[in-house]
Amino acid sequence: MQKIHDAIICGGGPAGSSAALSLARRGLDVLVLDRARFPRKKLCGGLLTWKSVRLLENHFNETMDSLADAGAVNFASDRYAIRTLTDNLAEGPLPFPFHFVDRTVFDDRLLQRAVEAGAGVAQETQVVGCDPDTGTVTCADGRTFRGRYVIGADGANSRVRSSFPSVERERMHRFMAAAIEIAIPKHSFPRPVDHPELYVGFLDAGYGWVFPNRDKVVVGLCGLRSKNSRFPDLFKKFLGALKISPDAVPDWRGHPLPYGNYLHDPVFGRALLAGDAGGFVEPLFGEGIFFALCTGLYAGEAVAKGVETGTSPGPPYARRLHRHIIPELRASDRLRWALFRSMQWVGPRGLGWFATWLNTPLAEMVHGMRSYSWLRKKQWDF
Ligand SMILES: Cc1cc2nc3c(=O)[nH]c(=O)nc-3n(C[C@H](O)[C@H](O)[C@H](O)COP(=O)(O)OP(=O)(O)OC[C@H]3O[C@@H](n4cnc5c(N)ncnc54)[C@H](O)[C@@H]3O)c2cc1C
Repeated sequence: MQKIHDAIICGGGPAGSSAALSLARRGLDVLVLDRARFPRKKLCGGLLTWKSVRLLENHFNETMDSLADAGAVNFASDRYAIRTLTDNLAEGPLPFPFHFVDRTVFDDRLLQRAVEAGAGVAQETQVVGCDPDTGTVTCADGRTFRGRYVIGADGANSRVRSSFPSVERERMHRFMAAAIEIAIPKHSFPRPVDHPELYVGFLDAGYGWVFPNRDKVVVGLCGLRSKNSRFPDLFKKFLGALKISPDAVPDWRGHPLPYGNYLHDPVFGRALLAGDAGGFVEPLFGEGIFFALCTGLYAGEAVAKGVETGTSPGPPYARRLHRHIIPELRASDRLRWALFRSMQWVGPRGLGWFATWLNTPLAEMVHGMRSYSWLRKKQWDF
């Protein structure tokens, strides 16, 4: 007889670790499957907002100091700038610093927290299929695992999501952004960078970024593929405008970024999707770490309750998503189209005025102290 775990979690990134911690902490039998061996690389700017800091404290018992001691947090900045390739549009102070993490160390540390709480992990175990009706997951090496529930936290190209007949594949694809990112040693960058810089106005439905880290500068670009053909040429243009010497540019890597394709109903049979697998990324700035941590926590708690009470975890998971996450993503999506369209009509200057005029409330919105919906004060439930 095959063992039936309380939960199988596919993917051990922020969403998977957060879900695993929720379940293991309640003494449930949870197994995380990840195709990689940790510590593993993940292409990401690593920017954390205030709401991520709160969630890490409350759920993982990690502070920015404990994460800095572990080498996961490597920079913090309490200023920002928004620019075009030629001009400064807005800059100002932040009500709370942005923290920057090294994802290799950060993700490994979060997965360790789940393991310490009692979660099992099978590394180098690639999921190739999932049967949401039975909770059976099939791996590339032919092994199968079975759970009372399956949480798909296997990122933007989720295999668990492919087993959902309810997912609109065309919409998922249309709103999947391309993202390219490189890290350049600080001494090879043409000038000092001590705060995050966002670059707009040279691509449609997307933006570029320059993020400071302790000993490197992270340069990236993301944008909807349907709106930006020849994406690599746009990245070259961006690097040229930043005056980065071609010799200092390492090989590029790209990764898809869900960018407005969040699912309204990420539950099917015994399977629930969390993080990038469910498209839970904020559609204006592409913030995904918080939404992975938060939806992972929600999915884990819903499954724990379902196992304990013999009820279905789908409705409580959907309720929390529709109360706290989906309204934020929907409002951010509306705002991004308003901003991107206004840039096409009146140029990027309007965005500069808008950001300067509403500096503090907008910064509080990005941090999660205020909602993307009319800048109302936001109460989170973790
Ligand atoms: C270039 C770039 C820059 C970004 N910058 C930021 C930023 O600065 N701040 C921010 O908040 N967000 C950022 N994001 C978004 C953020 O990286 C993601 O939203 C976040 O990593 C989602 O976490 P996750 O746990 O859902 O998925 P992931 O972090 O992708 O983790 C998924 C895990 O699943 C595993 N996996 C995948 N497929 C399988 C399989 N078939 N079988 C088994 N295991 C599998 C992977 O190995 C991985 O460990 C950025 C994204 C990109 C692409």
